[in-house]
Amino acid sequence: MLNTAPFRLLIRQAGRNFEWLKATPCSCYDPRENYDQQPGCPSCEHGYVYRSQGIKRGLIAPRKTHILHPDLGWVPVVETTLTTLPDEAAFGRFDKVVLVDQIARERVRVSRTTDRITVGRLRKVVQLSDNDTIYSPRTDYQVDLATGQVTWLTTGPEKVYAADVEFVPIMWYIGQDGQLEVPAMPGHQTPITGTLSQTPPSA
Ligand SMILES: [Zn+2]
Repeated sequence: MLNTAPFRLLIRQAGRNFEWLKATPCSCYDPRENYDQQPGCPSCEHGYVYRSQGIKRGLIAPRKTHILHPDLGWVPVVETTLTTLPDEAAFGRFDKVVLVDQIARERVRVSRTTDRITVGRLRKVVQLSDNDTIYSPRTDYQVDLATGQVTWLTTGPEKVYAADVEFVPIMWYIGQDGQLEVPAMPGHQTPITGTLSQTPPSA
C-alpha cells in the first residue's frame, strides 16, 4: 500500500495553479430526441456548458510519446500531462484546464468574415498585419479582449490577416490512458495523470 502524503507535498511544492472548468451537457442535448449538440446553439461548445470550479493545483509536465502517422509511421511528439489528486479535481469527459500562470504567444490567422481571434484567454494583441500593412491600435482597429472581436475603424485588410497575440492557454483534459489507480493506505488517494490537449476529445 502506498503512502500518498509525499505526492501531496510534491504537488504543493512543485505544482502549478490551474483553473478547472467542468463540462455539463447543454440542455440543447436531449437523449430522447437528439444525440448531438444542436448546431447553432448559442450557449454551448460541443454540447457542453462550462462552469469554473476554482483554482486547483497540479503537476504539469511534458511527456515524450509516439503517434502513428499514416505516411511517416511512428513519429515522436511531446504531450503535456497534468497530475492531480482525485480530491483536488475529479475530472470528467470534456472538462477543460486553464493554465492560469502561463502566457503563450502565437501568430494566428483571422478572417474578415468573423474578425474574431479565437485563442484561449486573450490577454494582449501585439500586432495585426497583412502582407503589405502593419495596422495601428486605436487608429485602425479596436479589440475586445473578452470576446476576441476585432472592430475595424478604417477599411482594414481585405480577406485574411495575421494577429500576433498573447493568451492564457485553455486545454482539454483527456482521459487517464486507462491507467489503474495504485492501492493506497486507507484514507489516502493516489494521484491521477491525464493528458492536456489543444483539440477536443474524439467522440
Ligand atoms: Zn447547447
